[in-house]
Amino acid sequence: MQRLDIKTFKSIVFFTGAGMSAESGIPTYRGQGGIWHEYKIEEVACQEAFERDPLRVLQFHELRRQKVLECRPHAGHRVISDIEKELDNVVVVTQNIDGMHQFAGCKNVIELHGSLWRLRCPVHGVWEDKGEKYTSYHCPHCDRWARPDITWFGDLLDNQVIVQAEEMMVRADLLITIGTSAVVWPAAGLVQVALQNRVLSIEINPKATSVSHLYEQSIRGQAGQVLPELLSWK
Ligand code: NAD
Repeated sequence: MQRLDIKTFKSIVFFTGAGMSAESGIPTYRGQGGIWHEYKIEEVACQEAFERDPLRVLQFHELRRQKVLECRPHAGHRVISDIEKELDNVVVVTQNIDGMHQFAGCKNVIELHGSLWRLRCPVHGVWEDKGEKYTSYHCPHCDRWARPDITWFGDLLDNQVIVQAEEMMVRADLLITIGTSAVVWPAAGLVQVALQNRVLSIEINPKATSVSHLYEQSIRGQAGQVLPELLSWK
């Protein structure tokens, strides 16, 4: 594989999906071992379920936190974090909620679908809670049930976050998309925004996706192997 020197780019976006975390041991939705084979979305991952049985929903998310804490960032996460430390024009836009980019040391991460490591009260807003178990299931200010700060099925995305991500896509002159089927909105739309702007675009995925043909380069391979081989930045 020919190395790509990324020093000369003005604005670099790494756009990641569930496949980025697959080699860390976190299953994708559509792959084998996905959580939705075992659990029903309507029972644990939507607002209606939370209103019906908040404790069950919170305990399900604690289980997901435990699973993620058993996993570690892989070589691909570390490459992105090393690049972010070296260059000041790098952002990760991710659909993942697992925080794996931050575990690898990334600071500049836009989380489109929220985070497993935050809770939210409808009145008092969002706070971080990073342990295996939640410190409390309730808001520290008003004692309402706390909700995971995640975009569940049927939820709207945070508009501010979308606007921020769009700005990054408009500005990007290098887009590297990793491990997403990019079929879910806003993923599909965000990629289109960047591609319209004549960026150098690269997709990394072991399988072809419905948008592979839109990229200048579509590399068939695993994130943890391709990223260290492909990029040079020093
Ligand atoms: P997806 O499950 O639709 O697609 C995953 C893609 O990753 C597939 O195209 C697959 O071929 C590819 N892939 C698998 N292993 C890979 C590897 N080692 N390297 C590179 N690519 C690999 O996931 P999606 O497109 O992210 O969309 C589904 C939604 O589910 C998103 O909202 C996502 O945030 C969410 N989700 C998140 C997590 C997480 O936080 N880790 C896990 C599952 C699903």
